[in-house]
Amino acid sequence: MAELRIELIAVGDELLMGMTLDTNSHYIAQSLAEAGLRLQRLIWVSDSEEAIVAALKESWERSDVIIVTGGLGPTHDDLTRPAIAAFFKDNLVVREDLRQDILKRFESRGLKPAPGWETMAEFPTGATAIPNERGAAPGIHYSRDGRELFAVPGVPSEMKGMTQQFIIQKLSAQRTGAYQFRVIKTIGVGESHLAQLIGDPTRLLPTTLAFLPSVDNGVTLRLSIYAEAGSEEEKSLNRSEAIVCRAVQRYIYATKETSLEAVIVEILRSKGLRLALAESCTGGMITSRIVNVPGSSDVLDRGLVTYSDRSKTELLGVDTGLIVEYGAVSEDVARAMAEGVRKRAGVDIGISVTGIAGPGGASDTKPVGLTYIGLSDQSGCVVNKYLFAGNRQENRRRSTLAALTLLHGYLVK
Ligand code: AMP
Ligand code: MG
Repeated sequence: MAELRIELIAVGDELLMGMTLDTNSHYIAQSLAEAGLRLQRLIWVSDSEEAIVAALKESWERSDVIIVTGGLGPTHDDLTRPAIAAFFKDNLVVREDLRQDILKRFESRGLKPAPGWETMAEFPTGATAIPNERGAAPGIHYSRDGRELFAVPGVPSEMKGMTQQFIIQKLSAQRTGAYQFRVIKTIGVGESHLAQLIGDPTRLLPTTLAFLPSVDNGVTLRLSIYAEAGSEEEKSLNRSEAIVCRAVQRYIYATKETSLEAVIVEILRSKGLRLALAESCTGGMITSRIVNVPGSSDVLDRGLVTYSDRSKTELLGVDTGLIVEYGAVSEDVARAMAEGVRKRAGVDIGISVTGIAGPGGASDTKPVGLTYIGLSDQSGCVVNKYLFAGNRQENRRRSTLAALTLLHGYLVK
């Protein structure tokens, strides 16, 4: 059987106007993917019955499953219910059982039914109701001509409950194959260079390859395939994973969904090494990422934000002469910071960052984005120089990734 073609329609003017971030679609897409299902298309429509009907018509033509989120509430701008009834040429009639359910729901919480609440019990005659454990409005389910439609409220908690307990359950039971993924997470390399190393992506077919670059986590490679269980295609995914891993081996930090900081903490722990950080322009971001990992206290001694010149001297013992001669953003100061924090903390590894995040602070010789990152251990200290080209926040995040990349490289060499 072929892959289920699933389309999602998210209803609401607030989405189209950029007032509400469409987190429902993200959640539904993610839940489907976790269940081996894939969304083919996403459509945003306004709070207009005509627009919703038009979107339903279009989607119904080319898909097996339509999911709608939003517009099921009791107010005049909630038009998904009449639109669905119109689309299926059904009537909306008050369902007494739903009316009672909604009423009971208000009563059990000691609330007076909200004005207009009875419209939520007006239900398309050909549909079945999707129970709503977290709110009043029931969802709508149609099964027609071998196709299905699910409509769930826009309120995120209600949408989530129905997605998990109803939609995913129903669709999982129908699918015979699954959309499957592998991730290969890399750092210290750009996507173009990775593409060059991997070569012609058609040799991975029927597996498809995607490049997902991120400021915080390097480039993630995602391999995916839709395959029936035990089929030839399924083997292609393993074969492709092996080919890609071999091509980009030295840049890989993980081949599963995990974070760079989690990998680093695990290696530090397994080697019995402890870490201290002295951060200037990153303002604690690196430390914060390490602390994201449960159990990081095993490996992290301290993370100091030494932003001023005075704090670099007071807390790290950086010689004021160095700062005067070379400036706070310099190779020499980065080295003194990394060594200083390591020695004062009495740990194995010291990391330092000093840079010009921007937009101010640049000089003729030191542009915005200039950053030095140091790593000190008992046998010495390396300092790398970087020139980042982003805005202030991007430069800080890139500096954080660069520091974690340097540390990871040191730990696995
Ligand atoms: P509605 O069911 O359309 O009346 O939506 C109720 C509330 O849920 C809206 O006011 C939004 O705050 C929220 N909401 C609706 N659609 C979405 C969506 N796609 N993503 C996130 N929140 C949403
Ligand atoms: Mg709405």
